[in-house]
Amino acid sequence: MGKIGVLTSGGDAPGMNAAIRAIVRSGISRGYEVYGIRDGYYGLVNKNFTLLSQSDVSDIMVRGGTFLGSARLPEFKEDKVVEQAVSNLKEYGIDSLVVIGGDGTYRGAQALYEKGINCIAIPGTIDNDIFSTDFSIGFDTALETIVENVDRLRDTSSSHNRCSVVEVMGNKCGDLAIFSGLTCGAEVIITKETGFDEEQLLKQLTYFSEVRKKNHAIVVISEKITDVALLAKLISLETPFSGRDTVLGHIQRGGSPSPNDRLLATRLGDKAVENIMNGIGGCCVGIVNNEIVTIPIETALAMPIRKRQEYFDLHKRLV
Ligand code: ATP
Repeated sequence: MGKIGVLTSGGDAPGMNAAIRAIVRSGISRGYEVYGIRDGYYGLVNKNFTLLSQSDVSDIMVRGGTFLGSARLPEFKEDKVVEQAVSNLKEYGIDSLVVIGGDGTYRGAQALYEKGINCIAIPGTIDNDIFSTDFSIGFDTALETIVENVDRLRDTSSSHNRCSVVEVMGNKCGDLAIFSGLTCGAEVIITKETGFDEEQLLKQLTYFSEVRKKNHAIVVISEKITDVALLAKLISLETPFSGRDTVLGHIQRGGSPSPNDRLLATRLGDKAVENIMNGIGGCCVGIVNNEIVTIPIETALAMPIRKRQEYFDLHKRLV
């Protein structure tokens, strides 16, 4: 029937492999040849294409990362580089492409679509910063990793009258901090949305220790808000707690994908192929209220950040 290319781009996320598997197998079932493109847009520009069989994607679903590799290629913003990619795809007779990644990857797909390649984008990023979908592939697994680690920190914090300041990923979107803070029972959650008031935080922690008689406190904070090592020192100096900082870093990206991420990736991968079969392009797939939806990439990129006020209010009531 035709040829489909698939690539993963931007930061890797657990569940990308499950999406690739679904695209390859659903594509072959529907009569397509499916080509894996290595290292995102870099492989597209350098013609690193491999025809994939059903058995090439055996056993990859349980593995974190992406077996196709991922890369960043800033030059893909240039017209002539996109044109090179289009010409490579045409040379192989590949007229449809599924890309898995974050918003940057979506912009690359839109650029290709505008030059005649039928593109479908799948949200694959642990940060959950694609606002056209309730959840992106990788978020659930990353959340599980954070919760497991913060639970461990809580055990040791309680024994030492400590305040653990835990920095989590999520630069453009605070969901990892909000969801983990709520499910770990963190005393304080700080994200871009809440803003950061150092003086108020120190007062709050002193209150938790002196009035509420807490023998530990957890502060979950999104990355790139403040220097958490300095903050922990300040907590030791200015509050009854001994402050300790933990930057979870790339540990959050790794690990075998959770069943929820595997299921989401499988459903989205299959839907991407169905869209291609129906001649739909320039779109992305996502999950909204547990329904798989398809919307234009341009609309998705223009959507505003989700407000999580109800979660912040809930946190205030429970802390
Ligand atoms: P994450 O933020 O989760 O790591 P992402 O997909 O947003 O994922 P980026 O590095 O922003 O990661 O983008 C991935 C790649 O997409 C870039 O390296 C580049 O090749 C391509 N890209 C990004 N922005 C554009 C753009 N405006 N036009 C064309 N291509 C783009």
